[in-house]
Amino acid sequence: MFAAKLVCTKCGEEYSLACGVYKCTKCGSPLDVRYHYDDIADLIQDNDPWFREHPHVWKYWMFLPVSNLKKAVTLNEGGTRLYRAKRLEEKIGISKLYIKNEGENPTGAFKDRGSSVEITKALEFHAQKVIVASTGNMAASISAYGAKAGLKVTIVVPEGTPEGKLVQAKMYGANVEVFGKTYDEALAEAERRALEDGYYLTGNYHYRVEGQKTTGFEIIDQLHFNVPDWIVVPIGAGTHLRAIWKGLKEFYRIGLISELPRIAGVQIEGYDSIVRAWKTSKPIEKITKKVPTIASAIAVKAPVDGENVLKAVKESNGYLDTVTNEETAAAGLLLGREGLFVEPSSATSLALAQKMREEGIIDKGESVVIIATGHGLKDINTWSKVLTS
Ligand SMILES: *Cc1c(COP(=O)(O)O)cnc(C)c1O
Ligand SMILES: [Zn+2]
Repeated sequence: MFAAKLVCTKCGEEYSLACGVYKCTKCGSPLDVRYHYDDIADLIQDNDPWFREHPHVWKYWMFLPVSNLKKAVTLNEGGTRLYRAKRLEEKIGISKLYIKNEGENPTGAFKDRGSSVEITKALEFHAQKVIVASTGNMAASISAYGAKAGLKVTIVVPEGTPEGKLVQAKMYGANVEVFGKTYDEALAEAERRALEDGYYLTGNYHYRVEGQKTTGFEIIDQLHFNVPDWIVVPIGAGTHLRAIWKGLKEFYRIGLISELPRIAGVQIEGYDSIVRAWKTSKPIEKITKKVPTIASAIAVKAPVDGENVLKAVKESNGYLDTVTNEETAAAGLLLGREGLFVEPSSATSLALAQKMREEGIIDKGESVVIIATGHGLKDINTWSKVLTS
C-alpha cells in the first residue's frame, strides 16, 4: 500500500491511517489521505500493461488506501463511458464536448466509486453496522455495498427524498429512517447516532474521496492522457469536485499529465453558499432557508467540502456559478435528445457549460467534459412534472 497518512485539509494536523477519526479532532475540517507518490511513479512508469488496461476504479489501486486488494468490496464500479456529444457541440458552439456518464455505475450514480473504498475500509476496521446520511443516492449506494459486504446498513434521509432511491436502498436490505427536512439535519443525526450507538460512519469523508477521485483518473485515461480545457462538476457537499481535483493533481504530480484542466463547479439556485462566497470573497455562510428545487441530490445548505471546492477552483483558475431550475430542466431535455437520461442534479453541469459558453468564459475552441452524476430513472417524479408543465 502506498498510502502514508491522513492530513487535515485546513490546519495540517496529521493522523495515522490506523486511527478511526472521520474529521480533524482539532478544527473539525475534512481530512485527506496522502501517499508516497515517488513510489507510485516508479511502479507506473513504462508499465505498458497498466496503460492498456480498461479504466475502472480498482485499476488505480496504487492510489487507493487499501492494503489487501483481495478484500476489496466491489460491484464493478467505475469504467463508465465518456461520450462525445456531437450534436450538442454544434448547438452550444463548443468544439469538443464530452459527457462522463456516471449513471452507468452499479447503483446508478458516481457514489459507488466512493462506497466501494469506504465499505472496504469499514471491513478493515472490523465494522459490523454502518450508518450514512444522504439525499438518496449515497444511501442506495452504501446499502448495496454494505449488502455485498454482509454489513447491517442504516440510512438517514430527509423528508422528500425521491422514492426510487428509497425503494432501491430497501431492496438492498437497508434500514431506512426519515429524519429532518434537509440533508444537513439528516447528517447531524447520522453523526450523533454513529457516536452514541457505535455505528461505523460512512459519507462524505476522506476514504470516499479516494474512490471518487477515480472519476478524474478515468477521464484522463479515456482521453489517452490528453487534458481537457474544462471539467464541469455539480456540487452538493462538494466532495466529488474536491476528489476529482485531487486525482488530477496526483496524475500531474507523478508526471502522467503535464498540465491541468480548469474546474467549474455548479450549484442549484437557492443552495448557492459556495458560489456566493466565491463572488464576494467572503467566508462560506450556510443557507438558512429550504427552497423548492428539482435538484434534490445537490440541495445542501452547508457543504462539508465547501472550503475544498473554493481551493480547487482557485488553484485550477476555474469557475463557479449557479443555474436555475428552468435552465436545469431544459438541459436535462437536451441530454435526452443525445440519448442520455440523467437525473435533474446531473443536468446542472450541461446547464452551466451552456451558460459559460454564452458568457464567453468557455471559448469556442475549447474542450469540455461535463459530469452526468446519476441516472434519470432515479427520480422520475421530478421529470414527469417537468414534462407535463
Ligand atoms: C451526490 C450527488 C451529487 C453531488 O456530489 P457531492 O459530492 O455531494 O458534491 C451530484 N449529483 C448526484 C446525482 C449525486 O448523487
Ligand atoms: Zn484541522
